[in-house]
Amino acid sequence: MYAVRFHGRGGQGAKTASRILGTAAFLSGYQAQDSPIYGAERRGAPVAAFTRFGLEPIRERGAIVHPDLVVVADASLLEDPSVRVSDGMTDRTILFVNSPLPAEEIRARSRLTGRITTFGVTEIALEHFGRRDAISALLGAVAARLAGLRQEPLRQAIARELENLGLAPPVIAHNQTVALHCYESVQMVECESVTAPAHAVTTFHAPVYESPSRGTARINASGNSVLRETGGWRTFRPVLVADKCNGCWLCFVYCPDGVISMNKDDRPVVDYDHCKGCQICVHECPTHALVAEREQEGGVAWTAR
Ligand code: SF4
Ligand code: SF4
Repeated sequence: MYAVRFHGRGGQGAKTASRILGTAAFLSGYQAQDSPIYGAERRGAPVAAFTRFGLEPIRERGAIVHPDLVVVADASLLEDPSVRVSDGMTDRTILFVNSPLPAEEIRARSRLTGRITTFGVTEIALEHFGRRDAISALLGAVAARLAGLRQEPLRQAIARELENLGLAPPVIAHNQTVALHCYESVQMVECESVTAPAHAVTTFHAPVYESPSRGTARINASGNSVLRETGGWRTFRPVLVADKCNGCWLCFVYCPDGVISMNKDDRPVVDYDHCKGCQICVHECPTHALVAEREQEGGVAWTAR
């Protein structure tokens, strides 16, 4: 069995990428399985998705503990200890990081070891789609390439999955073209054949009944969300172009986290300690007075200067 773990942020398409990979594997004749896991947070929060495929029926379920391939959709996740990108990685695991920086630089900055390869998927998305969040098909393509799947099943898988999301045929065709470009561009790392690795011994866990009161989340302190500085999730920040702002307050209204306040001149002020970079304010601003700029601290460590 071959196991792929995706790490991304809510809204980046890690889940769809894992589905594309699973469908491409299925169309290649493998047994396949994929599933995502979300936390309690929303857009911008770390998420993970898992794809398994192999020649035999897959009886393992749940999170992938020992991945053969780890796909990191957002390099800033490497800095977040709660994401635990390196969990279960061995010297045989391939780590793909969405970054235009060379693998050696990622290795030096993250102190991760193993077989690392990189490619600037976000830069490709910006160039071809004009959007930084349209990367699910591109990530799926990179994963398919690194996992040794062929182009044709990948192309069909992209069509199926994006069609399920309601995308129009020309958009799907464009995604296929750009995804295949990524497929051909990513630098290959030698990969293991699809056989059970020695460490992937399946153990079964028999669940026992627990009282619902034990399984229900409880928050014992009130008013503490301000302590969670979600600004670390951000790879693009909204920046005000003051002379375009007409003071309409729409950004204030639409910000899902309430981190925009309005000053006495009716101009927005963003609390960057808590702005998670979802860009909803950028999309909603009627005068394009808010623009998305790549982070100059933290996030820039993972991008080309
Ligand atoms: S939505 Fe745009 S124009 Fe309106 S207040 Fe915010 S930045 Fe200014
Ligand atoms: S300020 Fe804009 S980018 Fe930041 S959380 Fe609010 S809507 Fe999202």
